[in-house]
Formats: sequence, C-alpha cells, structure tokens
Amino acid sequence: MNYKRVLKAIKKYDSIVVARHIGADPDALASSIGLKEIIEYNFKYKKVYVVGSTSTKFKYFGTLDKNVENINKSLLIVTDTPDKKRVDCANVDDFLYKIKIDHHPFVERFCDIELIDDKASSASQMIIEFALKCNLKIPYSAACKLYMGVVGDTNRFLYNYTTVKTFDLVSSLIKKTKIDFVSLYPNMYLRNLNDVKFSAYITNNITVTENKLAYIKLDDATLKSHKVDASTAGNLINNFDNIDEILVTIFCSEDTANDYIKCSIRSRGPIINEIASKYNGGGHSLASGAKLKNFSECDNLIKDLDIACKEFIGEDYE
Ligand code: AMP
Repeated sequence: MNYKRVLKAIKKYDSIVVARHIGADPDALASSIGLKEIIEYNFKYKKVYVVGSTSTKFKYFGTLDKNVENINKSLLIVTDTPDKKRVDCANVDDFLYKIKIDHHPFVERFCDIELIDDKASSASQMIIEFALKCNLKIPYSAACKLYMGVVGDTNRFLYNYTTVKTFDLVSSLIKKTKIDFVSLYPNMYLRNLNDVKFSAYITNNITVTENKLAYIKLDDATLKSHKVDASTAGNLINNFDNIDEILVTIFCSEDTANDYIKCSIRSRGPIINEIASKYNGGGHSLASGAKLKNFSECDNLIKDLDIACKEFIGEDYE
C-alpha cells in the first residue's frame, strides 16, 4: 500500500475534507472521523472537515461538519466507499485532488490516488496502518473510534478478513495509545427493548426456503407499528448470523421518505455482492446491500439469492 503518497498529498493541502459512504455504519464513521482527528493532531495549521449525513444511532462517533469552505482548493479523502455515487458528499468532482482509501472490492476509479485493500477487515484497519506506517501520532479519541470501526466491521473479530494483520495493527494501536477498549463496548452494543422486540418479530415472521434463504419484507405500516425506521432491520441483521438452517439472509425495508426499498443481505457461503450489484447494490462478498424500487423487484432479488443458495448447496455436496 502506497501510504506515503497519501501523506505527501495531505502535506500539500491546507484544506482537507474527509467523506465516506451514504448509510453510515461504524467503520465508515470511524475511518473518516478518525482520519480527520489524526490529520488535525499532526498538522495543527490545517483545516480539516468531515462530512456526511448524521446518524442518531451512531452519535457517539462525534459531530460532522456542515459548512465546508473552499472546496475547489481542497483535497478530498473518501474512506470506505468504492464508487462515486455512494459518496455521502454532494460535490465530489469540485475538489482539486481526490484520494480513496477503501477495503471494498473494486467498483470504479473516481480518485487521483486509489488505495484499495480488499483483504483488509475494514477501512478503519487501513487508517490505523496508514498512521503507523507514516509515523503519525494517533490521538486517544481517534484510536477509540478506529478500534470501534474494526470491531464493527469484523463483528468482534468474527468475520473473514479478520487476519493476523488485523490483530497486529489493533495490538499496536492499543499499545501506543493505551485505549481502554472494554469501556467502548456499551456504546456499541447497548440495545433498546423496542429493537429487541422488533428483532423477535423478524425471527417469528421470516420465511426460510428449502435452499436455506431467509427473507422478510417489511412495509412502512409494519415498521411504524414497531416504532422503527427503514434502517433498523439492517442494523439488526448481524444478529441473524450462524443459524444452521440459514445460508443467506435478506431484510427488505420500505423507506417511504426516500422512496425505495432498502435491502441488507448477509451470507455464510454464497457470493452475494455480484447478485446485489444487478439490483442497484453492491458491497462485500458476504455482506451486501441494495436499493430497489419496489417489493416486486425484491421478489426477483430474492429468487436470484435462492438460486445462489441452491447452487452453493449443490457444490457443497458434489
Ligand atoms: P449494510 O447491509 O447496509 O450494512 O451494507 C453491507 C455492505 O454493503 C456495506 O459494505 C455497504 O457499503 C454495502 N452496501 C449497502 N447498500 C448498498 C448499495 N445500495 N449499493 C452498494 N453497496 C451497498
């Protein structure tokens, strides 16, 4: 990874904006806000902004900047985002110079420098590596966020791409910054009873096919009756991991405010991002998402996922 090129560009620009993907999650927030804090700490005279829409669920990652000045003289660094349309920042093309730091499989080139490590557990892991490789100091607050970013995307060091390198980098981060990482878990894992009840509703109403595909369609009325919104189900999907009778899970939630159906997909085997990409989606091979126009489009996606499960089971027994 050519992190030194990134450092050179950071040194060159006095105004820097850090952005990440729409639909913020812990890794997207941690990698972008953590990077902003690292740059500010090491280069005190630079003006660094971090942008994107706010998320009440993840408010413990801190605040975001609203009014960004001098975009056409600034450097844009996009973390955790493989394609331009998913960047949560309106005017990507107006920036003077652009850098991507991402761990998703390659989708498109839209930056001058693109650092992609699709074997990295998380974008936060890449930011830790960048800071350590470039001998930058990591402030305590950035270290806490980056730790939470890695923990979030690996689901507590459970998923694939949790590697020796992940543990080495996290271990160095903890040794250098002495963060009290256990104290970070309540923020990440405290749940409210309403969400737990909604999770129970999903468990009781999910359909599981003979090919081990689990799916549920959650319309606006259902979401409202449970006092949750379109993003809640997606945030709960990792609770449905490691169920013997299920290979792939998809939750489809109606988002009336944005007029689409938000789908979150997880897999224990079949590759799902290539299927999601046919439905205005994408992501990782075993953790993907998509935005669909309506529930009948969801039926097609569900069918394709079911076929993938069937083929996977077939391959498994050959
Ligand atoms: P989620 O289910 O929202 O946690 O997303 C899982 C993964 O899929 C993340 O890497 C997201 O960036 C990616 N993803 C989610 N929705 C989309 C989408 N509409 N298009 C492309 N990638 C997506």
